[in-house]
Amino acid sequence: MSPRVNGHTRPLGLLGYPVEHSLGPLMHNAAFEALGLNYCYLPLPVAPEALGQAIAGLSAMGFVGANVTFPHKQAVMSYLDELSPEAQAIGAINTIVFREGKRLGYNVDGIGFLAGLTSALGIPVQGQRILVMGAGGAARAAVYTLVKAGASVTVLNRTAERAQTLVNSLRPHLPASASLDWGALTPEAVADRASGADIILNTTSAGMLPNVEATPWPEGLPFPPSAVAYDMIYAPRETTFLRTAKAAGARTLNGLNMLVHQGVQCFRLWTGQQPPLDVMFAAVTDQGVTH
Ligand code: NDP
Repeated sequence: MSPRVNGHTRPLGLLGYPVEHSLGPLMHNAAFEALGLNYCYLPLPVAPEALGQAIAGLSAMGFVGANVTFPHKQAVMSYLDELSPEAQAIGAINTIVFREGKRLGYNVDGIGFLAGLTSALGIPVQGQRILVMGAGGAARAAVYTLVKAGASVTVLNRTAERAQTLVNSLRPHLPASASLDWGALTPEAVADRASGADIILNTTSAGMLPNVEATPWPEGLPFPPSAVAYDMIYAPRETTFLRTAKAAGARTLNGLNMLVHQGVQCFRLWTGQQPPLDVMFAAVTDQGVTH
C-alpha cells in the first residue's frame, strides 16, 4: 500500500546511484502506514557530481532525513555539520537527520548488524571468535561494532593491505584490550581461523546477484558445522557460501536481518517512535528478488 501524501507529509529518502532495487522505500513506508505516521520515503537517484546540491536541496525542502548508500557513503560526510562517534570511527555514514538547521550524520550499519545477529543468536557476541571475510565498507561497520561489543575478530581480505588498513584505522577508536587481527584471504588462513571460529561472516560482495556462483569460501574446504555462517548479502537470499555451510550442517543467516535492524535504528532517529519490527520484516521478506 502506498502512504497517503498530503500537505502535511514529511519527506525522507534514499540517496544513492542507482537506487531502483532498494528495499528501503517498501520497508519504511510499510512502517509509517502501520503506525499511521504521515511520512513518505522516496528513492532519490543522485549522481556523484550532484551530491552537494542534493543535500542542500533536501535541507531546503524540509526533508526529515535520508539514508545514504553506494556510492555516497564517504563523500557525503563533507556536506554534514556533525558526525556520530560511530560515523567518525567507521569513516562513512548511512543516515542523515536534518534537525534545527543542522545536518547530522550517523552510521547505523554496525548497530543494525549487531542487533540482527544477537537477536537471531539469542546470545551476546562478547567472547565469541569471529572470522570476517572482506574489508570493505560493510566490514568496517561490522568489525568496529563487534570488537566494541567484546568479540575477538580476525579480518581476512583478498587484498591483504585493505584488511591491514581497516584494522589499523579502527584501532584508535577501540579499547587497548581489543582483540583484532588481519590477514590475506587465502585457503590456508581461512582453514586456520575457521576451525576455532564461533561465527564466520561474509562481508564480501562475492555471491551477490548477478554473480551468484561466486563465494569467498575456499573450494573443497569443509565448513565447520558448529560455526554460524552469516552472509551480509540478501540478494539472493541463499548464497553459494550459505549453501556450503548449510550442507555441512551449520546454522545460516542472511543479510535481511541487518537490513531491517539498521532500518529500525534510522526509523527511531527520524521519528522518535518505536518501529514496528514485524511489519518491516514482512515488507522485505515478501519481496521476491528478480534483478
Ligand atoms: P565494498 O565494495 O566496500 O567491499 C567489497 C569487499 O568484497 C572487498 O573486501 C572486496 O575485496 C571483496 N570482494 C569482492 N569480490 C570478491 C571476490 N570475488 N572474492 C573475494 N573477495 C571479494 O562493498 P561493501 O562493503 O559496501 O558491501 C559488501 C557486501 O555487503 C555487498 O554484497 C553488500 O550488498 C552487502 N551489504 C549488506 C548490507 C545489509 O544491510 N545486509 C549493508 C551493507 C552492505 P578487495 O578489497 O580485495 O577488492
